[in-house]
Amino acid sequence: MFTLYNSLSRTKQPFKPLHEGHVGMYVCGPTVYGDAHLGHARPAITFDVLFRYLRHLGYKVRYVRNITDVGHLEHDADSGEDKIAKKARLEQLEPMEVVQFYLNRYHHDMEALNVLPPSIEPHASGHIIEQIEYIKKILDAGYAYESCGSVYFDVEKYNRDHNYGKLSGRNIEDMLNTTRALDGQEEKRNPLDFALWKKAAPEHIMHWPSPWSEGFPGWHLECSTMGQKYLGEKFDIHGGGLDLLFPHHECEIAQSVAAQGHETVNYWVHNNMITIEGKKMGKSYNNFITLEQFFDGSHPLLEKAYSPMVIRFFILQAQYRSTVDFSNAALQAAEKALQKMTDSYRRLQNLTPAEKSSVEVPDFAKACEEAMEDDLNTPQVIATLFEASKLINSASDGSIKLSEEDIEKLKNTFNTYLIDILGMRIADDADNSAATKAYEGAVDLLMEIRGNAKAAKDWTTSDLIRDKLAALGFNIKDTKNGVEWSVK
Ligand code: ZN
Repeated sequence: MFTLYNSLSRTKQPFKPLHEGHVGMYVCGPTVYGDAHLGHARPAITFDVLFRYLRHLGYKVRYVRNITDVGHLEHDADSGEDKIAKKARLEQLEPMEVVQFYLNRYHHDMEALNVLPPSIEPHASGHIIEQIEYIKKILDAGYAYESCGSVYFDVEKYNRDHNYGKLSGRNIEDMLNTTRALDGQEEKRNPLDFALWKKAAPEHIMHWPSPWSEGFPGWHLECSTMGQKYLGEKFDIHGGGLDLLFPHHECEIAQSVAAQGHETVNYWVHNNMITIEGKKMGKSYNNFITLEQFFDGSHPLLEKAYSPMVIRFFILQAQYRSTVDFSNAALQAAEKALQKMTDSYRRLQNLTPAEKSSVEVPDFAKACEEAMEDDLNTPQVIATLFEASKLINSASDGSIKLSEEDIEKLKNTFNTYLIDILGMRIADDADNSAATKAYEGAVDLLMEIRGNAKAAKDWTTSDLIRDKLAALGFNIKDTKNGVEWSVK
């Protein structure tokens, strides 16, 4: 039975969808005003694995991941300038040019990380009408008020009837004690109130007409609106980074209860954060490393470039609810581990079956399944695959024998868990193009010539081939079964 940790109940719960065979999942997507960094990779990969796993379990999944292209403000949800509008103003671009530019780059990074595209990727700016309708419902229910052309959610009134703070476990009195009124907030009745609609200042370049003013919607509103539009008034999973739990997701719950009279989400799922050498990512630390910088090694904190699959493997080596600390040493360890796993995977494809296995082969698939069922315990899946790798390596060097049936089982386990569910891309094996075949054939031919030269004690030729191939980046290993080669 698949159990998933629910941030709302603060327990692991058996996963049961609302509609048999179908799962609706909403994940807060990126705000597209800059390049994606390591902090974006973790939720994308976490929910990609959940998406892949739910499909593996046989569910038809509708996965909605939004694009925040309006309403996410620079300093505070209720004041300051929209991040995209600011970028557009500074670079003298149409705001949607900024959005498209960074969205294209985001998609490119996600493709590199082998993150599957969601079923629907709605833009906040494309759902202004729906957001206005949603605000009207909250106003009609009496949980919002208009003030100077803006509309605010009345947190205190809501809390009298419901529970504002049920997701984060925060208490409204404590929140009030720690929240000071900020400049320009006097139009709110209470400092905890948040904007549903904001009247645009004259210099604001992104605004739409509404019954209250020419303005733009508050950030929290888009997810309530688009979640309901594409997944219904009740759906299974809402995900995002732990940093979104408060206030964003808390406000989403309040909005949907106010507008619909009931909650929307069955399972709230949050991935934990990534720190960089023990520090939070932040402008003051100058440690926002973009994914592109990881891929080409161009950030000063990086000792070298790291491939997208190393980043993915690194993230999956931790369970999604644990923190992950980035360092060059940790990434290089992940790179080595992934290389070992890849080598074993390749050896597995080339094993020669024996009549009978000489050892008992454990049920690795079952162990992987149990790990995934336990709240997506990906590090346990990886540990199990390493156990299986040991057997494969022993079979490859001839110290044990494996039957055809056992080899098939191992192949299925690796294909299901490493490739399909963890989403690791092992390029060379997937690529069976004529060019790859010809290239592999040519290297095999060089190995054969080297073997013949060795047999004839022509060391000059055999060393020449080995050294030149090594200089080109080939790894050549003499084993009992012949020569093995790979690209470093
Ligand atoms: Zn959201």
